[in-house]
Amino acid sequence: MTSRDVDLFVIGGGSGGVRAARTAAAAGARVALAENRRMGGTCVIRGCVPKKLMVFASEFREQAALARGYGWNAEAGAFEWQTFRAKLDAELDRLEGVYRNLLTSSGVTIHDMRARVSDPGTVELEDGTRITARHVLIATGGHPVRPDVPNAALGMVSDDIFRMEALPKSMLVVGGGYIACEFACILNGMGVEVTQFYRGPQILRGFDDEARDVVASRMREQGIDLQVNTNVVDLRPAGVGRVEGRISKPNDSVGSASANGLVVATTTSGAEQRFDSLLFATGRAPNSRDIGLEKAGVAVNQRGAIEVDAYSQTAVPSIYAIGDVTDRINLTPVAIREGQAFTETVFKDNPTAPDHDLVASTVFTQPELGTVGLTEEAARGQEEIEVYSTSFNPMRTAFGDRPNQVLMKLVVSRASRKVLGCHIVSDGAGELIQMVGIAVKAGLTKEDFDRTVAVHPTMSEELVTMQTPTRAT
Ligand code: NDP
Repeated sequence: MTSRDVDLFVIGGGSGGVRAARTAAAAGARVALAENRRMGGTCVIRGCVPKKLMVFASEFREQAALARGYGWNAEAGAFEWQTFRAKLDAELDRLEGVYRNLLTSSGVTIHDMRARVSDPGTVELEDGTRITARHVLIATGGHPVRPDVPNAALGMVSDDIFRMEALPKSMLVVGGGYIACEFACILNGMGVEVTQFYRGPQILRGFDDEARDVVASRMREQGIDLQVNTNVVDLRPAGVGRVEGRISKPNDSVGSASANGLVVATTTSGAEQRFDSLLFATGRAPNSRDIGLEKAGVAVNQRGAIEVDAYSQTAVPSIYAIGDVTDRINLTPVAIREGQAFTETVFKDNPTAPDHDLVASTVFTQPELGTVGLTEEAARGQEEIEVYSTSFNPMRTAFGDRPNQVLMKLVVSRASRKVLGCHIVSDGAGELIQMVGIAVKAGLTKEDFDRTVAVHPTMSEELVTMQTPTRAT
C-alpha cells in the first residue's frame, strides 16, 4: 500500500464529522478534519443548541402567567433580546472551544478552511495544500433553502435567527415542519406577533394526525395566527409597489438574508399582509455542491444527497459519507451514530451498519411533540391495530387561565401486541419520549406497559393505565 499523509480526512466539523474523527483517532488512526465555518456545525452553532436555549428563554412569560394562577404576584416583564443574545454568543463561543479541544486532545489536525475531494485518495484545501488520505469522510451537513418566490432574499432562514440585532415586532413564519413550528412558538413566547403560513391542510406532515391537531390548536390558543392552506407567492419591501420580477436575487447560501425591515407578503388567495420580518423554514438541502464529488465518481441523487450503502460507503470505496449530506434521518444523534459506526467499520474491523429503525424525536414546540415508531395512520396501513389515546388538562395547569391539553397515545399491534408507536404532546415530551423510546425499541408489548405500576400523580402515568382501546381496526 502506498503511504498516505493521513488515514482519514474528514470534511465537515459538525456532530457527525467530529464524532467520527475523534473515535477514529482514538482507534489509532492519523486523522485530519477541515471545517470552513465554526467548529460544531449546524447543531451546536445554528441549530439544536441555540434553538433549545431560545425555547427556554421563551417559556418564562407563560410560566409567569401560570405562577399568577397559584397566587404569585408575578410578571415576566419585557424580554430583552440583546441581553439574551450576548449570553447566547458567549455560550456558543464556549461550546465551539469545547469541540476544538475534543478534536485536538484526540490528536486530530484541524484545518480551518474549505476542502474538496480532488481524487478518491486526495483532498485539496482552499490554500492549495493537497493531503493524501486512505479514507475520506464527507460530513458536510445541509443548509436551509428558500422557496422560489420573487424577492425571497427578503426573508431570513433559520441560520439568521440567532444573529438578529433586535426582535421584530411581527414575523411571518413560512412552513409547517420542525423548524417553522418551533420558531413560531419561540418567537411568540418572546412577545413577537407571529403569523405562520403552511401550504397544506395541517402542520407537521408525517407526524401522527391526532398529535398534529393538538399541537396546532395549542399554538393557536397561545396567540399564533396559524393559517393553513396558505403560502406566499410574492414578497416586496414595504413602500415599494408590486413589480414583475425580483427586486434582488434569492440566494440559498447561508446567512445571506437581509433580516429586519418591513416586508409585504402576497398570499395564495391574493391577500397582502405586512410584517416586520419573515422567516422561511421551508426545508433544508444537502451540502454536496463544489466539493469535488462528481469528479471523484461519488453518486449524488436528485435532491443532492450523497448515495451510500448501509455502511455509509459511497460508490467510491475510499469515500464514505454520514449525516445530513446523505439525507437519511436528518437528526444530530443519528449523524453521531453514523460517525461511530463508520469508525467501527473502517478502523476497528467491526462492520457496523447504523441502526435507523425506531428513532425517537421531538419537535420543540410549546407544548412539545415527542414521537417514536409508527403513526396511527402508518400502522393502520400495515396491519390491524389498537389505539390507546387520552387527552386531558394536566394538574399543573389546573389553576391557569388557559386550556392546556396534553395527549398520550399508544399504537399497538393486534397480532403481536407490540407497541408500534408512541406519541406525546405535553410539556417535557422530549424527556418522556426518550424513555418510552427504550421500551418501544426493546419491542415491549402493551401488556408490558400494563404490568408497569404508575408513578402518581404524573401526566405520563396515563401511558401505563389506559385499559380500553380508543379505536381498533
Ligand atoms: P421540514 O422538511 O421538516 O419542513 C419543511 C416545511 O416547509 C414543510 O412544512 C414543507 O411543506 C414546507 N415547504 C417546503 N417547500 C415549500 C415551499 N416551496 N413553499 C412553502 N412551504 C414549503 O424541514 P425543516 O427545515 O423544518 O427541518 C429540516 C430537518 O431538520 C427536519 O426534517 C429534521 O430532520 C431536522 N430538524 C430536527 C429538529 C428536532 O429534532 N427538533 C429541529 C429542526 C430540524 P410540506 O409538508 O407540504 O412538504
